Amino acid sequence: MPLIRAWLEAANQPECDFPLNNLPLGVFSTGGTYRCGVAIGDQILDATGLEEAGLLRLGDMPVLDQPGWNKLMALGPAVWAALRARLTDLLREAAPEQDQVAPFLHPMHGARMHMPFTVAEFTDFYAGRHHATNVGTMFRGAENALPPNWLHIPIGYNGRASSVVVSGSPVRRPWGQIKGPDDAKPRFAPSARFDLELELGAIVGQASNGPVTVAEADQMIFGYVLLNDWSARDIQAWEYQPLGPFQAKATATSISPWIIMRAALEPFRVSTPAREVPLLPHLQERGPMLYDIALQVDLTSHDGQSVTIARTNYREMYYSSAQQLAHHTTSGCPMRVGDLLGSGTISGPTKDSRGSLLELGWGGKEPIQAGGITRSFLEDGDTITLRGATQGDGYRIGFGTCEGTVLPALTDPYER
Ligand code: CA
Repeated sequence: MPLIRAWLEAANQPECDFPLNNLPLGVFSTGGTYRCGVAIGDQILDATGLEEAGLLRLGDMPVLDQPGWNKLMALGPAVWAALRARLTDLLREAAPEQDQVAPFLHPMHGARMHMPFTVAEFTDFYAGRHHATNVGTMFRGAENALPPNWLHIPIGYNGRASSVVVSGSPVRRPWGQIKGPDDAKPRFAPSARFDLELELGAIVGQASNGPVTVAEADQMIFGYVLLNDWSARDIQAWEYQPLGPFQAKATATSISPWIIMRAALEPFRVSTPAREVPLLPHLQERGPMLYDIALQVDLTSHDGQSVTIARTNYREMYYSSAQQLAHHTTSGCPMRVGDLLGSGTISGPTKDSRGSLLELGWGGKEPIQAGGITRSFLEDGDTITLRGATQGDGYRIGFGTCEGTVLPALTDPYER
């Protein structure tokens, strides 16, 4: 699909994250109330304002009168498509409504971004083969790197919706119970092995009550965001057996402020990698369910030095979000509008394509060194910035950025 030209020239530039083909959805404010907005070029279109003015009609009642896109999601795929069609008509080059729409544009640099939707529930998976192999090799040796179930089901755990925050929110280094392999007993201390995980988050836009197929699951997905699953490795190592991560992953999970709708990613579908063992029929996909999305992790230290520490691609995942969602429902587990599914850490096959410091620095044994920065794990004041984009013919579908800065641990977390 070629670039759809907009009457905003900034949206037609090849390096722009937000051309008319993208139309990502967010929630913004410029000092007053929170509004539903759509990114176009270097501007945010006030979609709530458009609806109030009668230029955007999505139902019999207002849909964008709340600061979040959940109401739109609940209306289903036909309305999702109608929204994109109407916005495309209003913003297309030489659109007759240009003068009516222009007053609803706000410069992006002057706006604050907020959570784009209300997270109903949050589940995180462990579905990247390179990541699972790296972590498994570190903890169990190369022979037993993948757990016996790994090639048969996308492993996941139920996380906390309450811990999901929007890009830009600071993240406080957590305290927790820690016991190293050589320690006689556990102690309560700030995490010394605080880490990031580069992931993609899939947003469920339709509810289910009973098992769904992979194809049905794919159609239930509303869109995607970048996701950083902040992880305290030392807390995790002590607490995780036998039920998986708990407090190590509960401090915060950051997401990018713009929801990239599934429709915008359609031209960039790719297949999952070859299967080592065939999946059971209920997890087999009938078509390409991943996307070709180049991903990047930047680390900026407290003194402003910035380096790219990893480059990878979402197509490296072994299981797609549709497969994860289908698996999630096999028991009859009801899914809700606004559920968020973390893909699992997205690592590639090479050393510089690993999506966590745990892997990049091999558990602290091989600290990364780049541009004067040496790191095994995150230091106070470090900012992590995730970026992602597909490359089209003369345009890109960008995700924007997902940022978070690590604040020092409190001196005493129980001080009142
Ligand atoms: Ca994770």
